[in-house]
Amino acid sequence: MLMLNMTWHEIEKHLKNVNDNIIISVGTCEQHGYHLPLGTDIFIAEYFADILSEKTGAIVAPTLNYGVNLPCDIHFAGTTSISAEILRETILSIINWWEQQGVVHFAILTCHGDPFHLQALQIKADNIKLIDISDIDYSDILEKQATIRHACEAETSIVLQLFPEKVKADKIQEFDIDSNNFKKYLFHEDKGMPKGYVGSLGFPSFGTKEKGICIVNSMIDKTINEGVEFLKASTKLADRQISTEK
Ligand SMILES: [Zn+2]
Repeated sequence: MLMLNMTWHEIEKHLKNVNDNIIISVGTCEQHGYHLPLGTDIFIAEYFADILSEKTGAIVAPTLNYGVNLPCDIHFAGTTSISAEILRETILSIINWWEQQGVVHFAILTCHGDPFHLQALQIKADNIKLIDISDIDYSDILEKQATIRHACEAETSIVLQLFPEKVKADKIQEFDIDSNNFKKYLFHEDKGMPKGYVGSLGFPSFGTKEKGICIVNSMIDKTINEGVEFLKASTKLADRQISTEK
């Protein structure tokens, strides 16, 4: 249930009578190698936000299409980053408006691993919860990688499963760098590019739809486990529903 398709009056009624929580998907506008589009993390976050909305009745807010990216990605056209401070400020400001309209809980969904992006979204408040969709166990699924990297075996598999038309498999270029050697780029210390970097890390050519099914199922479990209980209609709403039934 998308907020952007509803009128304000429908939203007001929904918050009063069905579910008084909101799901916010946070993507980022980021290069994903030669074979995946810049919207990859956006499309994935939106897919899981929809599932969580179906399970809970919580409304899905418009996606935040910008997040925090690695400085080394500035060398890839189109990639756009905002600062961690601006990301957090943006989330807090929009939440502030919705709180004044009676929204109780906010689940933030993201599928982007920049450490400063995740830190900005990790807000210490009882009514805000970050669900990092990508944080699952990949060890039994992947052949060439221990975990998810970037536009890699795992991420390519996810897109092959969810949006196969968006994968340019014939354009795949591979570049692997040890996680330890990539650390200085990951933590924004080195703003240059690793020599030979093509925008993806790991082994995208090993991505398959079958692996994608396993990953997506595991991500669905994670999203549901962490989100459904948190997003159930608040006690306030349950009390009101009981009193109207009388
Ligand atoms: Zn991604």
